[in-house]
Amino acid sequence: MRQSQAFIPTLKEVPADADIVSHQLLLRAGFIRQTASGIYSFLPLGKKVLQHIEAIIREEMDATGANEMLMPALQPAELWHQTERWDAFGPELMRMKDRHDRSFALGATHEEVITSLVKDELNSYKKLPLTLYQIQTKYRDEKRPRFGLLRGREFVMKDAYSFHDSYESLDQAYELMYQAYSNIFSRLGLNFRAVIADSGAMGGKDTHEFMALSEVGEDVIAFSDTSSYAANIEMAPSMDQYTESQETMLPLDKLATPNQKTMQEVADFLGHSLEQGLKTLLFKIDQSFVLVVTRGDHEVNDIKLKHLYQASTVELATEEDATNLFHAGFGSLGPIHCSSDVEIIADYGVRYVRNATCGANEDGYHYVNVNPERDFKVTQFADLRFVKEGDPSPDGSGKLQFARGIEIGQVFKLGSFYAEKLGANFLNEQGKAKTLIMGCYGIGVSRTLAAIVEQYHDEKGMVWPKQLAPFQVHLLVMNSKKEDQVEVADHLYQALRAKGIDVLYDDRSERAGVKFADSDLIGIPIRITVGKRASEGYVECKIRENGEQSEHQQSEVIDHIQSLLV
Ligand code: ATP
Ligand code: MG
Repeated sequence: MRQSQAFIPTLKEVPADADIVSHQLLLRAGFIRQTASGIYSFLPLGKKVLQHIEAIIREEMDATGANEMLMPALQPAELWHQTERWDAFGPELMRMKDRHDRSFALGATHEEVITSLVKDELNSYKKLPLTLYQIQTKYRDEKRPRFGLLRGREFVMKDAYSFHDSYESLDQAYELMYQAYSNIFSRLGLNFRAVIADSGAMGGKDTHEFMALSEVGEDVIAFSDTSSYAANIEMAPSMDQYTESQETMLPLDKLATPNQKTMQEVADFLGHSLEQGLKTLLFKIDQSFVLVVTRGDHEVNDIKLKHLYQASTVELATEEDATNLFHAGFGSLGPIHCSSDVEIIADYGVRYVRNATCGANEDGYHYVNVNPERDFKVTQFADLRFVKEGDPSPDGSGKLQFARGIEIGQVFKLGSFYAEKLGANFLNEQGKAKTLIMGCYGIGVSRTLAAIVEQYHDEKGMVWPKQLAPFQVHLLVMNSKKEDQVEVADHLYQALRAKGIDVLYDDRSERAGVKFADSDLIGIPIRITVGKRASEGYVECKIRENGEQSEHQQSEVIDHIQSLLV
C-alpha cells in the first residue's frame, strides 16, 4: 500500500480524553476513531490488525472442531423473556422497538439466540457434541465506557457455544477450549494467565478467565508464589488460621471520638492498630439489609457475600438507609444495640479480636473493649474478606502475590440453565427426551487488540509482534523529490510485493523526521529506509523492536527481510 493513498490519520498530540497508553496510541497512530462514547470505527490499520487476531482465533477454534457461523445482532425480546434475562440483565442491555412496537435487544451475548436455534435442529444424541462459534459485534450499554477499546459499548467478540448429552462431554469440551484459548493468547504474544473466576448468577459452575497482565487491568489476580494456583481475587478464599487471643476481656466502654470517621482516623485517635477496629458496613443484599463486620485491616468481598446469600444483587446501602435504620452515619455504624431488623454477619477474623473498637451507632462515639459474642451476637461467621498479599495460597502451597489483569476471555460450564428455560431437548439413545447441557466461551477481540498494545509499546509508539502487525515491512523513501531514491524505493516496493510481502510504502512528500516519527508510532516490525546512499546501491534496515540498524545492498535486502520474517 502506498502511504500517499492510505487513510492513516496520525496525530502529533496526545488526545486529551485518552488516559491509557493503548487508547492514546491507537488514536494517535490512526488505528481507531471514536464515533460516540464507547463506540469506535476501526480505520484501515486497526482493521488489518483485527483481521490478523481473528485469523489466529479462527485457526485455533476450527482446530477444536468448532463450526463458524454468524448470528444476528438484533434479538427479539421474547427470547430474553423466556430466560428471564430481559429484566435480569439490567440497563446494560440495549433495547429498542421496531415500527410495529415490538421490542428487541441489541445482542450483548448470544445464549438465547443460539439455544433457540439449535433447539429446533439438534434433536438426537447422535449429533452431539456440537460447538458453534461466531466473531461478531456485541452491544452493552456499560455504565462507564472507558479506556478506548478496553471497555466499549460496541465491541467485537468471539463467542462459542457447545452442546452436550452429558457433563463428561462438557468437561472434555471445556478442556479443549481452555487449551485452544491458551494457544490463541500464546500465539498473540500475550503475557497472560488463566484464573479461577466467578460464575455469576446465571447457573453454571466451573469457569476460568484469561487475563492479560497489565497495570491498567481492572481485575486483580491472586496467585501463588510457588504453585500454579491463580484466581480472580474475588474468588480466592482466605485460608488464614486465626489464633485465639489470650488477652483478658475488659469492660465495654463508650468514648467520644469527635469527627473521627475512617477506620484509620479512629485507630490513630484512640492509639490502637487498624486491626483492633471492627469495620461495619451496611449492605443491601437483594431486598434485605445486612450488617457486615470485618477487622479494620480487611476489605469486604461482595462476591463472597453474593455467594453466601445466593443473591442476585449485592450493593452497599446508601448513607440515607444507614441513618434511617441506625440514626447514625456510615462512620459511626456498629453491631452493638442495633436494629433487630438487620442481620449481622462477620468475617472469621472478627471472632478472635479482643477488646476491639467499633462505632456506637451514635455520631461522634465509639465503643472500646468490644468483644464479639459477649457484646454482640452474630448470625453467622464466614469467609467474607478479600485475601491480602502474603496470605497463604488456597492450594496449600506458598503465599499469595497480586497482579493486575485485563479480562480478555472467559470459558464457562453453563450447564442446562438456558436449555431448560428455552425447552431445548434431545432424544437420548433410549429415545427419552433430555435437556441439553451447554458450555460457552468468549474472547473480547477488540479488547484483546488494546491489551496487546498495552504490552507492546515503547515511548515512541506501538511495537507490533510480526504475526499481528498491520504490515510486515514499512518502506520509507527519505526524499521523494530525489529521483534516484524514488527509483530504488519503487523497485523495492514492487520486488517485496512480488514475494508476497505486505508493505506499507511511505512515498509521501513529508520531511524525513515526520516519516520516521509516524513509522515508530505505527510500529511495523521492519523498516527499510531508502536515503542518500541509495545512489551507491545501499539501503538501511531497522528493527522496530530493538532499534537494531544494518545497512544492506539493495540486491541483498529482500533476502535479509525474508530471513527476518520467518
Ligand atoms: P467485564 O467483567 O470486563 O465487564 P464480562 O465478564 O461481562 O466482562 P463476558 O460476558 O465474559 O464479559 O464477555 C466475554 C469477553 O468479552 C470478556 O472476557 C471481555 O474480553 C469482552 N468484553 C466484555 N465486555 C466488554 C466491553 N464492554 N468492551 C470490550 N470487551 C468486552
Ligand atoms: Mg467475563
